[in-house]
Amino acid sequence: MKLDSKIPSGPIEKKWDKHRFELKLVNPANKRKYKVLVVGTGLAGASAAASLAELGYNVEAFCVQDSARRAHSIAAQGGINAAKNYPNDGDSIWRLFYDTVKGGDFRAREANVYRLAQVANNIIDQCVAQGVPFAREYGGTLSNRSFGGAQVSRTFYARGQTGQQLLLGAYSALIRQVGAGAVKMFPRREMLDLVVIDGHARGIICRNLETGATERYWGDAVLLCTGGYGNVFNLSTNANSCNVTAAWRAYKRGAAFANPCFTQIHPTCIPVAGEHQSKLTLMSESLRNDGRVWVPKKKGDARKASDIPEDERDYYLERKYPSFGNLVPRDIASRAAKQMIDDGRGALGGLSVFLDFSDAIKRLGKDKIAEKYGNLFDMYHHITDEDPYSVPMRIYPASHYAMGGLWVDYDLMTTIPGLFCLGEANFSDHGANRLGASALMQGLADGYFVIPSTVGGYLAGTKLGKVDAGHKAFIDIEAEVSSRTKKLLGVKGKRTPQDLHRALGKIMWNDVGMGRNAKGLTHAISKIPQLREEFWGTVAVTGSGEEFNQTLERAGRVADFLEFGELLAKDALAREESCGGHFREEHQTADGEAQRDDAKFMHVAAWEYKGEGREPERHAEPLTFENVHVAQRNYA
Ligand SMILES: Cc1cc2nc3c(=O)[nH]c(=O)nc-3n(C[C@H](O)[C@H](O)[C@H](O)COP(=O)(O)OP(=O)(O)OC[C@H]3O[C@@H](n4cnc5c(N)ncnc54)[C@H](O)[C@@H]3O)c2cc1C
Repeated sequence: MKLDSKIPSGPIEKKWDKHRFELKLVNPANKRKYKVLVVGTGLAGASAAASLAELGYNVEAFCVQDSARRAHSIAAQGGINAAKNYPNDGDSIWRLFYDTVKGGDFRAREANVYRLAQVANNIIDQCVAQGVPFAREYGGTLSNRSFGGAQVSRTFYARGQTGQQLLLGAYSALIRQVGAGAVKMFPRREMLDLVVIDGHARGIICRNLETGATERYWGDAVLLCTGGYGNVFNLSTNANSCNVTAAWRAYKRGAAFANPCFTQIHPTCIPVAGEHQSKLTLMSESLRNDGRVWVPKKKGDARKASDIPEDERDYYLERKYPSFGNLVPRDIASRAAKQMIDDGRGALGGLSVFLDFSDAIKRLGKDKIAEKYGNLFDMYHHITDEDPYSVPMRIYPASHYAMGGLWVDYDLMTTIPGLFCLGEANFSDHGANRLGASALMQGLADGYFVIPSTVGGYLAGTKLGKVDAGHKAFIDIEAEVSSRTKKLLGVKGKRTPQDLHRALGKIMWNDVGMGRNAKGLTHAISKIPQLREEFWGTVAVTGSGEEFNQTLERAGRVADFLEFGELLAKDALAREESCGGHFREEHQTADGEAQRDDAKFMHVAAWEYKGEGREPERHAEPLTFENVHVAQRNYA
């Protein structure tokens, strides 16, 4: 497998313009002769489908929910970054680029990140033009707040519902094209395989989730915009439907999987309450603008927050990182919380730390705090039955985001020609750690601004033979998909898919979670195949394949997580360094910070599938830094 990132030559500021100029164009009259399949209609997919249709391509778009509006993107709370520098606090495209490369612990491609920072400003203009109701200052200008890993305020937001508002914008653009006949929307379709013909991605096989029918769809290019795999940990802040299936199927057809061990554990989530909990709830990072994180100074101190005097509290982020304080990046904040709890200093003597707004409420007043974070406070109150206006929130880290994903080149094309990957599903621009408010930025940059140019370049520069869904490859792959469904239904065991997912989640969290070491990883790598065997011997899938059957859907996704989890653990074992969210306990500084090994690991690891029962092959794409000085990250 050859990894050619196709990074354009020339100065970093000019690469994207130069590349767009050099990419071949499809004549406007010819665009309608092409059909592009867009799988997933969250922010990345909806923006891509709408933009391509607007350009004149025929688009078919697919999602597992009943409406594109229900994609997981709708849950995004805190905001979206862009270097508009409205607050005049020293921001610039260069600073956003620099912060993102540094925040990712120097494990992302410079050229991609620079382009992301460049087009971010266009996203804000695009969304404002669509009517996205970003928060505004009294005088009418758009408001900005701070997020972790930055010392400027560059996050645009719509209270704690930014994802919802951005998705409604992208959805409106998409539905306009559905109305115009340029996009055919296929909701409740789950892509279960990719069809590759003569080395090019030419279609997908889906299950119609309402009728159970398997369906074939052909196209001239396929875009995977299917989101992240954080649910491999079972408990995560992701929606229950988030999965790795489409990306995993593509991997098995030849798309390299990059940096699967780069997962993000978010520091501010509502702690786990019980064994049968199915999901965790995020408390947006924006809360760290005004909330102060602390634990008792004394070990085993189980007193209520109000009983602990000020001088017996340790505001450990402010103490350890005075420059960034509570706004250190997520990996740093999560690890610090773990250290406090491992040290026996958790809030109320348990598995959480305090996030305290009492100072901010005193300073700004309750109304101001409610105006900024009201819906988040209400959510916390409903879930915990504790009122965060009067007692500090209790928070704990949880699986939240996937920096790893399908490997893509500068054009966002995977190692399968004609298969593109956008949004959280690709290995993206965030390196080993994503900064807050940068996922929405990346998904919309990919969909609105990058892919419209690069898909055109591919189509104009590639001679594709005629295919349709009657091609033998479609028939063969459809048969494979159907037999797998039959196999799942045929086990007739006693354990629910949820139960097996929970068992996988425990292995992943304990051995491949916030702190990783060779012993734990080796344990996970031996345990996961055993659990996989148990799955295929004991899973209970009730109902039939010819109907709406969410147990069957879940079982298929868990089966894929059971394969993918092993690759994630192998990637973590192979990466003998700590960087960003990947913390190998053997590799840490005297202060407990991540210790990179640039000489050996300054690369993207891209895994190639070699067939059932065979070891995958690890390839490396070296990373070079010509514009950013590589250093040990320092937020002190
Ligand atoms: C609680 C929460 C809050 C967040 N807040 C922020 C924030 O404030 N700022 C920020 O920048 N980021 C935030 N993030 C991250 C951000 O929301 C996501 O990274 C981003 O929305 C992902 O968008 P996407 O389009 O790539 O994927 P998604 O929105 O997950 O969409 C995936 C799409 O793929 C479809 N799909 C999946 N599998 C298949 C399949 N097999 N076949 C067919 N369709 C399929 C789904 O139906 C869906 O349409 C947050 C994440 C969480 C969990």
